Amino acid sequence: MRRPLVAGNWKMNTSYAEAQALAQGIRERASASPVEVVLCPPFVWLDLVRRILADTDIALGAQDVFWEDHGPYTGEVSPAQVRELCKYVIVGHSERRTLFNDTYEAVRKKCSAAIAAGLVPILAVGEDAAERESGRTEEVVCAELAAALPEPPSGPIVVAYEPIWAIGRGYPADPEEAQRIARLIRSQLAQLGCDDENTPILYGGSVSAATFEGFVSQPDIDGALVGSASLDAEQFALLVEIASRTQF
Ligand code: PEP
Repeated sequence: MRRPLVAGNWKMNTSYAEAQALAQGIRERASASPVEVVLCPPFVWLDLVRRILADTDIALGAQDVFWEDHGPYTGEVSPAQVRELCKYVIVGHSERRTLFNDTYEAVRKKCSAAIAAGLVPILAVGEDAAERESGRTEEVVCAELAAALPEPPSGPIVVAYEPIWAIGRGYPADPEEAQRIARLIRSQLAQLGCDDENTPILYGGSVSAATFEGFVSQPDIDGALVGSASLDAEQFALLVEIASRTQF
């Protein structure tokens, strides 16, 4: 059985004090959960959050990673550096793809370097509004998966289906539609030689406590990658509680 997973992507939010309070609030509310809980704060607060989460099962993730080990790459962070603090790393988030030109090739290199360093990539895939309207959702999702995973990965991965048009908008996708794409992702993973049955597939895009049960009760959706709602300890803990109640 796949363990449900709820990951919070704090993006470029929180001051030092806010990160401290948020991590403490989540520690108090979600550390006894059977769900795999992952917090992805900004790089600068990773060690702070790691210390707050010490002695809990809550895991830490980075929001991005470079593919080289070390060297003259000003501003970048290597997989080995991330691995000193984190178990997970988000790779291929649509904000990285669209705002920072993370190409298919960059996502592939980041994914394989992360796996080689012992990190678990949370690989984000999903179509934008124009692609959806022109009926290209399946094609885009399959192309992003195949480009990121040209070889079967040599370690575990997580895939997050994140329709771009549903991110940060307050209105999520239809859970049955997300299930259909999650099922497609699972069968595509099998075709690519991946361990499809044991790979958690998450939904991401305006997840809230009001709608989450509809997603996490789908057979191929194992949790969520959460943006806005992960910045509120109570809301985030509620999502963890819903995943736990629905899946166990
Ligand atoms: C995201 O950016 O990955 C995301 C899911 O954001 P939100 O929950 O705010 O839509």
